[in-house]
Amino acid sequence: MTDPDTGQPMLLLSRDASLGDLQVATTDQAITGAAMAHAAIGNALQLALDYQASTQQRRTEQPRTWTIADSLTGMPLKGTCMSGCSGFHVEWGSGQADAKDFSCTQYDQANTTELPIGCGGDSGKDGPTLSVEIKSYPVHPDEAMRIPHAAVEVTEDHYIEDLDPNGLAAVIDKLEQRVAAMRVRHAELVRIRNEYLGRQA
Ligand SMILES: [Zn+2]
Repeated sequence: MTDPDTGQPMLLLSRDASLGDLQVATTDQAITGAAMAHAAIGNALQLALDYQASTQQRRTEQPRTWTIADSLTGMPLKGTCMSGCSGFHVEWGSGQADAKDFSCTQYDQANTTELPIGCGGDSGKDGPTLSVEIKSYPVHPDEAMRIPHAAVEVTEDHYIEDLDPNGLAAVIDKLEQRVAAMRVRHAELVRIRNEYLGRQA
């Protein structure tokens, strides 16, 4: 609104829908207030996602163990799937695999962050965005590749276009939720890695 005395524009803040606590504020105060509100939303999301992660039923089944032939040497490769591996191992059908290519994956199946990301003339269809996959190459010659690690599925030269301010705000909200969910995936990576390293000890 405009200050009735000076004619200058005024920024008014209120925490109350009934506007009972209106106060004149600076732009910095408004930005700080918005940042604090965002942080509070982020904390609440984090707590909810942590709670969801902690109450999800822990997988009790033992990781799958198997033996296949090394396609290069013909020697048997004895392996154990990564904890939580949801990969379908086509190699089992042929009974042989290249030790460098055999991979276990836990897909980010809980990812519901869908954004219409398009490329070039393609305006984009809603699709899962920034999924965190957890992978391991259980019989890789380089032992470091056997230790479970993460891959984030991202695209480049892709855009979400024609956003008005509300549209951009909706994208930001979705990305904030995705970042909180990525922290849950981070906790899952730590769990899977500890399980793997415990098996090697
Ligand atoms: Zn596997």
